[in-house]
Amino acid sequence: MKQNLHPKWNHAAKVTCACGNTFTTGSQQDELHVDICSNCHPFFTGEMRFVDRQGRVDKFMQKMNAAQAKQAAQKNKKKKDEVVESAPTESQDTLTYKQILQVEQTKLKNLAKNRQPTEKVQKAA
Ligand SMILES: [Zn+2]
Repeated sequence: MKQNLHPKWNHAAKVTCACGNTFTTGSQQDELHVDICSNCHPFFTGEMRFVDRQGRVDKFMQKMNAAQAKQAAQKNKKKKDEVVESAPTESQDTLTYKQILQVEQTKLKNLAKNRQPTEKVQKAA
């Protein structure tokens, strides 16, 4: 074996898991700390459990809550719009396809009109 080339190999490196389990393995290091081992990994325990090291679940939940709040706000806004618009045309089932298209197009136009001022404000700020 060539001299001063090969790293030191520890045949009994102590591995300590976050669950408290310890075992030995071969490693260049004397001591290892791991977050999960065969004693506590969901695959081996059969237990359904989230292993969340970097707060990804929390981040996802925050994003989802924000999205749901936004959706709820939009729904409320839409309901108000629909109440105003649907009042004159109560029987939408009897409308022709062309009339339905016109109603949808006016809705879209109104949405576009409402959006433009806010976008300008955001660009200016
Ligand atoms: Zn473990």
